[in-house]
Amino acid sequence: MASGQLIESLPIGTNRIVTFLDQLFSLLEKLSDETFWNSLFGDRALNLLKRYFGSDVVFLGFILYLARKRMYVSIEIGKDESGYEAIQQFVASKTAQVQNLRKVEGRCFFDDDQNQNMQDPASPPKIRLFPLDESTHRIKYKGRTLWLTRKKNGGVGKDTESYYSNNIKDLLGMMSTNPCIEITMYGRDMQLLKSFIQDWINSHYAKESGKLAIHKCMPARYDGYEWSQVGSKELRSFGSVILKEGQKERILKDIQTFRRREHWYSVRGIPYRRGYLLYGPPGTGKTSLVQSVASKIKMNVAIISLSGSMDDEKFNVMLQEVPRNSILVMEDIDHCIIKDPNSENDTSSGKITMSGLLNALDGVIAQEGSMVFMTCNDVNRLQPALLRPGRIDMKMELGYADKSQIIKMFMRFMGEDDIIEDEEDSENNEKKKVVISESFKELAQRFTDLIPDLYVTPAELQNFFIMNLIDNEDLQDEKLPDYTYLLDQ
Ligand code: ADP
Repeated sequence: MASGQLIESLPIGTNRIVTFLDQLFSLLEKLSDETFWNSLFGDRALNLLKRYFGSDVVFLGFILYLARKRMYVSIEIGKDESGYEAIQQFVASKTAQVQNLRKVEGRCFFDDDQNQNMQDPASPPKIRLFPLDESTHRIKYKGRTLWLTRKKNGGVGKDTESYYSNNIKDLLGMMSTNPCIEITMYGRDMQLLKSFIQDWINSHYAKESGKLAIHKCMPARYDGYEWSQVGSKELRSFGSVILKEGQKERILKDIQTFRRREHWYSVRGIPYRRGYLLYGPPGTGKTSLVQSVASKIKMNVAIISLSGSMDDEKFNVMLQEVPRNSILVMEDIDHCIIKDPNSENDTSSGKITMSGLLNALDGVIAQEGSMVFMTCNDVNRLQPALLRPGRIDMKMELGYADKSQIIKMFMRFMGEDDIIEDEEDSENNEKKKVVISESFKELAQRFTDLIPDLYVTPAELQNFFIMNLIDNEDLQDEKLPDYTYLLDQ
């Protein structure tokens, strides 16, 4: 996908008739829109002007509109562009500084580690302010005045081959929404405006580099769904996810092989795509595993849930627009698929049908090679058609913790800081020397032996260890935490 398309406010096009029609439509549309007048004069001034000048204000507005168009340069960045999020964040930071705001859009974000435990009420999301669609905010940047407008329907976008005919298409109701941000600056120095925007993108990337971006498919403001970045967090180390012997290695090896084989797939005409199914009860590390895999291979995570009002059509559209360089995660697929719409036994809560899911899945192809992780609690509820290779190439059960996981988690949480160093994540794959005393190992083993075979998830264990941290003195006395609390979970 091309990154960043530029459109000058008033391009001198070769096709003058189309240009003229386009501007005429645009003008008529604007003149009939009260928000346009508000953006020129503001509410109060507009009322005053109307009172004193009556309909002459329309003429005045017309002149101002034309003057403004000729004296300014604008760049529109469509939502599909890779720098869009960076610009959004800049706009949000500036929106917060705009004085006398009356009405803006508030959106909630989890910062850093907050999104690790999305449901944890102790870490509430933070609200950020964005301009409402079609409203314009004036800001100062490096001594220049800029106008930032979030548009529901921009002139650029993948649906639109020709910018000039957009307004005509729009009038005929042919165009789907095509959100963008328009940045306008006084003067004719397009290069300067471009360099400003590049600054914002650069500083956003510098801030985010080394972090994991989490995108989620959220209900859009007007209709349907859209991808939004709901947070970014520190990379999740691969060693921090504790699975059964050999599981992590197996999945990592598969992913690495897949990523090396792009050419192999293309020569054989096989879609360059790999599907993974992680199943098991909640709290067994499905989400954590995907995040750690993404961190390891320097990708982001894009999560889509099949529940709610998401239907086959919307689902399909969203899968075509998965943010770049992201591992796609389809959550809880067993809960949401209507296996048989006529079946009374069907307890699924979503609207997506099995055939809708299969179609969408078969169509997923991204530039970087698509990796789709599906998660579910009960694998038996899935239809065999979904489980076949090409759709799901590797299945892995992340069940209740076994003894080896309990020992590792004990060591991770009860040990001293150097013990929890991540041996697998060091650069150039050198193993770090992890010194674990024999007596500590014994302690961990004793604790694990005490625990009867019970159904405890790693998340419950984590919680238990956090609540029952033993200090150095306890360790010296070889005093173990009271595991019976664990049985009450
Ligand atoms: P799931 O997606 O299976 O519901 P999560 O990955 O969301 O589980 O885990 C919830 C919490 O429990 C996270 O804070 C995570 O750190 C911890 N956790 C769960 N499973 C594991 C595991 N196998 N290893 C380490 N931590 C885990």
